[in-house]
This record gives sequence, structure tokens and C-alpha cells, in this order.
Amino acid sequence: CGVFGIYGHPKATEMAYYALFALQHRGQEAAGIASIDNGRMYNHRGLGLLAEVFAETQLDDLPGNSAIGHVRYSTAGSNTVQNAQPISFTTHEGPFALAHNGNLVNARSLRMLLERQGSLFQSTSDTEVVAHLIARAGLPTLTENVIEAVRMVKGGFAFLFLGKDELIAIRDPFGLRPLALGRLDDAFVFASESCAFETIGAKFVRDVEPGEMIVVSDKGMRSIPSGQRTKRAMCTFEHIYFARPDSDIDGWNVHTVRKQLGRILAERHGVDADLVVGVPDSSISAANGYAEESGLPVEMGLIKNKYIARTFIQPSSELRDSGVRLKLNAVRSIVAGKRVVLVDDSIVRGTTSRRIVRLLRDAGATEVHVRISSPPYKNPCHYGIDTSSRGQLIAATHSAHEICKEIEANSLEFLTVEETMEAFGLKDPHAYPFCNACFTGNYPTEVYEEDKLTYEN
Ligand code: 5GP
Ligand code: SF4
Ligand code: MG
Repeated sequence: CGVFGIYGHPKATEMAYYALFALQHRGQEAAGIASIDNGRMYNHRGLGLLAEVFAETQLDDLPGNSAIGHVRYSTAGSNTVQNAQPISFTTHEGPFALAHNGNLVNARSLRMLLERQGSLFQSTSDTEVVAHLIARAGLPTLTENVIEAVRMVKGGFAFLFLGKDELIAIRDPFGLRPLALGRLDDAFVFASESCAFETIGAKFVRDVEPGEMIVVSDKGMRSIPSGQRTKRAMCTFEHIYFARPDSDIDGWNVHTVRKQLGRILAERHGVDADLVVGVPDSSISAANGYAEESGLPVEMGLIKNKYIARTFIQPSSELRDSGVRLKLNAVRSIVAGKRVVLVDDSIVRGTTSRRIVRLLRDAGATEVHVRISSPPYKNPCHYGIDTSSRGQLIAATHSAHEICKEIEANSLEFLTVEETMEAFGLKDPHAYPFCNACFTGNYPTEVYEEDKLTYEN
């Protein structure tokens, strides 16, 4: 998912709307914006792309100087409008709204506890658990209630809370999910990725620190550290696949990292070939890096239809598989008679690679060597990247050699975790400030398998 927040701007809702466009790649299933004006909360959310959700709603219907917004891709909870965000609630000290990127690992047990104590839930999303924790904390200010609530949740999260006189941003203690702070004139802005700031002309100030809570109000900005001592564990997969190349996360530019991953692939896993083809869009940077390092030409051997949403994000595998066919075409005049290095960022279920290898061969490629700019994805993510159950992860049950056969490639190689970390300039395996759990199985938090709310896709 993607979140955006703005405090103290005369066109808060408009800015939120435009900024969310820059985060649309983070989720296409639902979108919404909540604003606050004179103590009254306004909220519009719905299923679909941002432009669809706001097609018939005037942004003027969401007045106020502060707003938060969300684009959703479901990891926990089904894709229904009740699960769209922001969610808003009323407490004894006024209304508040909440937007969340990530996934909580103890949502189920907290929910059971809350239900036993009389809370009634409207949705199946784990975000609502946090709203209930806030509503029942009963302390004098929203800030105190939020601190109390967030102390109880575990997992990966970037939260934005909008209250009647403040906007609160929180990043989980490991920094699993990204969250950046910026300024737009006198206003404060927060976004999952810095590319949203560029879009509205805001200036990037810094990343929210792992565990940090930032409260902005008419009195300015206040930072409250979590006090928890944890090891930083930012999601590597944001850099590999999820984020936009023009974003900077925790000091690293996403495109630059991907290019470096491609260079290392060429250097350590090179192969004799005629040209390099990247899978659009997320693997173009890595393909460029591979080409630069190997000296081979990089070509647009595959063209993507931009008007079809990311296949993976379509919730059922039936839809995903049919989506793949609509999305990509091979360019015959480029690949015919050529030995192709096909660079992709990841193999999750293996469906995409198999399809693309076949496309290239059908277009006349004589050899297809697949190079993946990440390690084998073997373990499910519990922190908000939807890679479903382990059973669907081809690398959980197949060796690289077996996957190579499955996808009908001439050869297949992945990066190691160490090589992946080298792309960030990191050499000491004991000091990686990253989560690599989907590759290694070492989760930075406890994970409770039975604690996942129903995964319906
Ligand atoms: P596969 O067909 O192997 O499951 O999917 C791999 C492809 O999906 C890669 O080309 C990669 O760019 C993309 N992908 C990898 N992880 C994710 C994810 O978490 N979400 C989405 N939407 N796409 C992904
Ligand atoms: Fe990211 Fe993988 Fe960790 Fe999930 S398990 S947060 S996808 S690195
Ligand atoms: Mg891809």
C-alpha cells in the first residue's frame, strides 16, 4: 500500500490527490482520502484506481487544511469497500482517521482480545484493530492514545493518523516499511515514497526513523522516539521490486540500487549472449546495469501494455495468469536469431518467467538466459508484501536448476543475499540494516503463522 499525509495547507485534499497518483504503483485495489475541517472528518474511499474512486467526487467535498490518503493492495483482509482506507472513527475526544501501509503479525490475537472485550469490527483488515486500540485507550490526547495503541502492535507498518488538531506519523521499530517526511511551503507532508513529493513540488526533508513517531500540529513538529532498541531492518524488496525508481529510501536511490544489482549479476553470473532484455517496468534499471557491466547492448525486446494493472496485484491467481498474457509482447525484429539475457527482478510463482521465455522463443530468440536481480524468494512476507502462502513460492520447493527447467530457460541464475547487499555497498553480514526474511527465513519479529487474518487470495 501507499500512504500520504499533509498538515497545514490550504489545498490539502488536492495535494493529497495528486501525491497519491505518484504512489499508485503501490496498490490499485482501493483508494481514499480523509480530511478534517473545523473538527469534522470527511472521508471518501472506494474500490479501484484513484481516478476511478474520485471520478464522481469533487475534491471540494473534502474540505480542510489537513488530509491523509491511501492506495491499497490487500495483504490481510479481502478487497471490499469496508477494507478500503483511510478508516475513520469517532472517539470521546473527536474524530480521527487512520491509514496504514504494512501488515501486523499479531492482529488476530489483538482482535480476539478486543472482541472479547466488546469491540465490534466492520472490516477484516488488521488496520481496524489499531483504531479500536486507540478508541479504547481513554487517555486525554490523540497522541497519548496512539502511543498506547501502537505499543501493542507488532509487524511492519507506516501509520498516518489524522485528528482534529494534529497529524501523527509512525514507522515500525525495524523500519520495515518506508516513510518519508517533507515540506510543502509551510505545510508538513509524509509519504511512503519520496517520488510523491516531487509530484507536488514538496521538498524531501528526511526519512522517518524506525520506531519514530512524528506529531505535527499548529505548534510545529515534535519527534518522539520509540524507546525500543531494535536493529534496523528495512525491506530489501522495496528496492528490488516494489518502489518507484525515482524514489530515495533510507538514503539509497532505488534506480541506482537496481542498476548496481544488474552490474553484479553481469559480473558474477554473466553468460555469452547477443543482447540484454529487461522485463518492463521494474527490471529496466537492472537490465541497464547488466548491459553496462557486460558491454552487451540493451534492447527493448519486450513491450508492456501500460494500461493493464500490475498482474501480481490482481487478487485471484486465475486473474493473474490471464493478466500476464495481456500485458507483454516480444519484439520480433529485435530478438529473432539472438541469444538473449533476460533480466527480471524476481521470481515469485514462476508464472511470469515461463510466459516471457516462451514469448521470446516464439519471437525467434535462439537462447534465453534468465538472470534474476534478487535471491530466490523462498519464504512468505509477513510485513505487507503480498506473496501469498509459501506453497505458491516456486523457490520454496524447487532448486534453481529445477526452476530453470520449469520456466524452460537455457540457464537461470539468481543473486545471493551477500551480492544483493553489496549493491548497497554493504559488506558485513552481521550489520545489514535490511530485512531479507523472504530470502533467508530470518524474520526480524516473531511471526505467528496462525495469527494471519484470512488471506483470501
Ligand atoms: P511470478 O510470475 O514469478 O509470480 O512473478 C514475478 C514477477 O512479478 C516479477 O516480474 C516481478 O516484477 C513481479 N513481482 C514480484 N513480487 C511482486 C509483488 O510482491 N507484487 C507484485 N505486484 N508483483 C511482484
Ligand atoms: Fe520485504 Fe521480504 Fe522482509 Fe517482506 S520478508 S519485508 S518482502 S524483505
Ligand atoms: Mg516484473
